[in-house]
Amino acid sequence: MLVGEAGGGADPAQGGTASAQDGAAAQDGAAAQDGAAPAQDGAAPAQGGAAAPSFLCDAMLGGLSRWLRGAGYDAMFEHGIDDGDLVRLAQQTGRVLLSSDAGVFERRCLRTAAVRGLYVPRGLRPTEQAGFVLRELGLPVRDPRCMACGGALTAAPKDSVRDAVPAVVADRHDEFWRCDRCGKVLWKGSHWDGIVAGLAAAAGVASTTEAAAPPAGGRKPPP
Ligand SMILES: [Zn+2]
Repeated sequence: MLVGEAGGGADPAQGGTASAQDGAAAQDGAAAQDGAAPAQDGAAPAQGGAAAPSFLCDAMLGGLSRWLRGAGYDAMFEHGIDDGDLVRLAQQTGRVLLSSDAGVFERRCLRTAAVRGLYVPRGLRPTEQAGFVLRELGLPVRDPRCMACGGALTAAPKDSVRDAVPAVVADRHDEFWRCDRCGKVLWKGSHWDGIVAGLAAAAGVASTTEAAAPPAGGRKPPP
């Protein structure tokens, strides 16, 4: 959707994998920083902090999983998984189960909160679903993760990715990131500002992504 990608397979949805770590762009998209109070711990967790929940999306919510990754959360999506396996996987991994199937929430481990879950209303677009989840859980928009797999992104020196991206891309861009999990090389695309703004607006929550801080030590820019 918003940025270019290289080194991976075809991106299944939204026309291109995304990801961008650009602080300035993120700042543009930030909703009021002191907007909705984060539900966890009373304070916005640090970027990449342990407080950030990870998610498991049901078979109908593949688009949502990608947008949650774009919002900086590790979201897992298993195509075709049945409800029983889905719930077991959520329990095993400690992920918050997201489903639009009300029947799933009748299961005992969800009723007893042994598995955390959130019902996502039907009829919403993926961006609206993501906004709903962030709002319901009081979560901020963070620096994006790899939208293909949910892996964390690490700033990659241009010289290290030159062979992995088209020459025209290397000519036009100076900032690149590599997914720690799937190895995709990403760069910021022209739609990123709008995407981040749309996501933050849909969520109606604060964003922890701020301009600033240049990448340090080969890691993502801090919040
Ligand atoms: Zn990845």
